[in-house]
Amino acid sequence: MNQKIYLDNNATTKVDDEVLEAMLPYLKSQYGNPSSIYSFGKDVTEKIKNSKKNIAKLLNAQEDEIIFTSCASESNVTAIMSAVKNNPNKKHIITTKVEHASILETMKNLENNGYNITYLSVDKNGKLDLEELKSKITNDTCLISVMMANNEIGNIYPIKEIDEIAKEQNILFHCDAVQAIGKVKIDVKDLNMDTLSLSGHKIHAPKGIGVLYVKNGTNFTPLIFGHQENNRRGGTENVPYIVGLGKAAELIINDNYKVNNTLKELRDYMENEIKNNIDDVIIYGDLENRLPNTSSIAFKGVSANELLLMLESFNIFISTGSACNSKLAEPSHVLVACNADLDNYSPIRISLSKDNTKEEIDILIKRLVSIVNMLRRKNL
Ligand code: PLP
Repeated sequence: MNQKIYLDNNATTKVDDEVLEAMLPYLKSQYGNPSSIYSFGKDVTEKIKNSKKNIAKLLNAQEDEIIFTSCASESNVTAIMSAVKNNPNKKHIITTKVEHASILETMKNLENNGYNITYLSVDKNGKLDLEELKSKITNDTCLISVMMANNEIGNIYPIKEIDEIAKEQNILFHCDAVQAIGKVKIDVKDLNMDTLSLSGHKIHAPKGIGVLYVKNGTNFTPLIFGHQENNRRGGTENVPYIVGLGKAAELIINDNYKVNNTLKELRDYMENEIKNNIDDVIIYGDLENRLPNTSSIAFKGVSANELLLMLESFNIFISTGSACNSKLAEPSHVLVACNADLDNYSPIRISLSKDNTKEEIDILIKRLVSIVNMLRRKNL
């Protein structure tokens, strides 16, 4: 069997060995409940505080602005529903056509409950027009929700400018920063958004742990009531996963984003080699301003699904879009929003992590060249 080459790190990442190591005691021996009065439980409270400190440091936030959740989807829904509940007289929200399903499905639900949602369009490279944003704001707008970086094409959005537009009109701003964390330096004091969400499993912590940042002074209503997290998120804390996420944040802080240079070098090498060896290739997205690890790439006349399956037969794992959409066999809503020619250029997404090597990329390129040629011949 060929060695496994995993190139779908925007879907999820491998848990880092150091993260796993940090978590294990809290799965094995230190299983006390942090709400307990006795020391066996109380000791783990210190560990939760330590994790919070790391996340706060990573974001330049205060520790009491960090709430642990079960995932970023929960964080997104909580932030949106809190904004809505705290502005009962306003019924208009602005978001974009390229958000993650957890945002878009929440908006759909609100639409079914009398809310008016504006979905900002993007141009062919997935870029937003901030003039459009300004023109859509009304006296009824209670929230603007825009992602920091797109999971499919990797575009990085002008969050600071968007927040300034929101603040001028006294409108809450939520940012889904799931794909940006670890790849884009996030300083919430500078960016000044009201709420922001993160997910553990995109940064080498496990699936099933998320963060919601809520700026101090923001009116907040929980989604899950209970006394944990300062009455802001009920449910016994997921101690091992919180510890793992704290360790993952510490690793990012210690690395100080140096990994981005390696990722960009590897991604650019891969794209250049692909273009040098295969004709009629398109790379989607804002090539000047995108995540260093992400490539949304299409080969004229080649079905992305067929390509994915052929690569899988060589133990190489890529995706055809976001993990949430790919099972639905529907075209990517992000590339539909970009008005992409999906009939001729259906994209695969290759997303790298610190675990990938040049040797893996060389194997990928070799396989891609032969598979694309073979599929093109078959379709003649
Ligand atoms: N937002 C974005 C941009 C994502 O890519 C994802 C996951 O793919 C999420 C939110 C949801 O994160 P989680 O899996 O932690 O719910």
